[in-house]
Amino acid sequence: MSPGFWDQAEQYRHQVRQDLERLDLPDGDLPDMHAVLEQLGWTGAAIPTRWGGRGLGTVAKIAAIEEATRYRPALGASLSAASLGTGLLLDFGSDKQRARWLPSLARGQDVMTICMTEPESGSHLLGMSTSARRVDGGWLLNGRKCFIGNSHIADLHGVIARTSEENSASALSAFVVESSTPGCRTGEEHDLAGLRGFSLGEVIFQDCWVPDSHLVGRVGEGLGIAHAVVTRHGKPNIGAVALGLAQSSLDLACSHVRSRHLYGRPLHHLEAVHRRLSDMFTNLYTARLALYHAGDRVDVGEQHDVGFLVGKLLASDGAVQGAIATTELMGARGCHALTGAVQLLNDALMTQAPSGTADVNRKRLAEMVLGTYIPARERTLTL
Ligand SMILES: Cc1cc2nc3c(=O)[nH]c(=O)nc-3n(C[C@H](O)[C@H](O)[C@H](O)COP(=O)(O)OP(=O)(O)OC[C@H]3O[C@@H](n4cnc5c(N)ncnc54)[C@H](O)[C@@H]3O)c2cc1C
Repeated sequence: MSPGFWDQAEQYRHQVRQDLERLDLPDGDLPDMHAVLEQLGWTGAAIPTRWGGRGLGTVAKIAAIEEATRYRPALGASLSAASLGTGLLLDFGSDKQRARWLPSLARGQDVMTICMTEPESGSHLLGMSTSARRVDGGWLLNGRKCFIGNSHIADLHGVIARTSEENSASALSAFVVESSTPGCRTGEEHDLAGLRGFSLGEVIFQDCWVPDSHLVGRVGEGLGIAHAVVTRHGKPNIGAVALGLAQSSLDLACSHVRSRHLYGRPLHHLEAVHRRLSDMFTNLYTARLALYHAGDRVDVGEQHDVGFLVGKLLASDGAVQGAIATTELMGARGCHALTGAVQLLNDALMTQAPSGTADVNRKRLAEMVLGTYIPARERTLTL
């Protein structure tokens, strides 16, 4: 009998753990995240072998991000964001574009972002103002993107920009911009309360010219492409970060209740502790099931938006609740910066906004229940 996705996921997590141990990285912040991603070699997990990837699929990618997050939250977040940029090319790039950019992304030699969010538009993508204006032989991009994962270490940006002034569903288009292109630069790197060491910041375009060959998909398809990339890559990726954080919280809680003695016995003898641990485990188990099952469906050629929606929601909420429970189980020690419990809470909170806030994910799930859901790729309405 071939192993099911649950066993496969465990095998991949084990492999990533071994690779991380081999890297033997220094404690504390990772000095060069770009180099670590390349050394780790898992950025190409879901990229087919014909484009230089490992061809292992979505289950492997989720496992790699989950395990990297357990090791270092910022590394997991960086791997998650890097696999988001490649998702754009994998699903919507032409064969020429895939052949040109995917091999170096698969090796981790290059890192690609996805630039959608702007100061005035997050959940409401059609509120964006970054423009791409048609000029001779190409497009001139102008605008400012913010909260972009891997912003300051990236070599390539996947950019969603406005190609029409109209407030219509076909107003946006997708482009690839090499970060060395004149007129493309980084701005502020945001000072995050969690996922410390993960580069999240601004990417700015000022009369930045890109040739026609950098347009991904057709003119006017940007909104559908953005929704599809967020649903099919963003949700499993950031969900996997949340899984890694929830597992770290559970590990920390277990280690504390075993070593802390009260009333002459270890803390884990208290019934209230059992309830908290079992709730944390149940949340983690169900979120894992949803995400890995959806990943497995994708690996056999189906789409499973609902699994990624449910999985991201469960994983992110579970990571926050798990970190709160661990902080509480540790009493005053949980509030100490050095124990890491509060830090895990800050890290978990960072998984709430990206790839669909909880409110927006609930809205989508309600649409599914009501039968009004439009699959991400065909989505042509504003939120
Ligand atoms: C760690 C991290 C990584 C990120 N990575 C990237 C990246 O790589 N690329 C990128 O482009 N962006 C990225 N982002 C930005 C992220 O995509 C946005 O934060 C997200 O889209 C939400 O937008 P916003 O923050 O502007 O919140 P807003 O859209 O302003 O939302 C504010 C509040 O309104 C609620 N709300 C909004 N619309 C609705 C609705 N229709 N129904 C009900 N409630 C609603 C939201 O739930 C939220 O509570 C990242 C953010 C973080 C924190």
